[in-house]
Amino acid sequence: MARPKAAISACLLGERCRYDGTDNRDPKLLGKLAEYELVPFCPEDFCFGTPRPTMDLVETEEGIKAISNLTGADLTPPVQAYARRFFDEHPEIDLFIGKDRSPSCGVCSARLYNRKKQLLSSEATGLMAAEAKRRGIETWDAEDYLAAHPAPPIRGS
Ligand code: SF4
Repeated sequence: MARPKAAISACLLGERCRYDGTDNRDPKLLGKLAEYELVPFCPEDFCFGTPRPTMDLVETEEGIKAISNLTGADLTPPVQAYARRFFDEHPEIDLFIGKDRSPSCGVCSARLYNRKKQLLSSEATGLMAAEAKRRGIETWDAEDYLAAHPAPPIRGS
């Protein structure tokens, strides 16, 4: 029987695709996902390369946008296009695990600012996670998934 499929932020698998060329490998999380076939994604590495300047979610008159912290450019379109293409190419995804706090991958942990760089929320949804939600996929921040799926007790202890 085919295994269920989980889309997962590539940095959580150990890919060095963070903005500064590091990773967020999480062996405990990967252990919890052992029953899944993992399908990695990294919209920011694909769109902008690694290393790269950071970006933030900003509330604008036209809705929530991803704005470059280096240039102020609107980086939303390529990230949204990547997200749509990824889920179009993987219609069988059962679960989405996103890296906490990322403006692309965070499910309900991304920071949202206004134009003056004042923090509006620490529970916003990143652009890739938003596309997963729109498609009705079960979505989790990695830390929340770990907390909600504790390891079974060790027998005899
Ligand atoms: S959080 Fe998402 S965009 Fe950032 S490095 Fe990880 S996979 Fe890439």
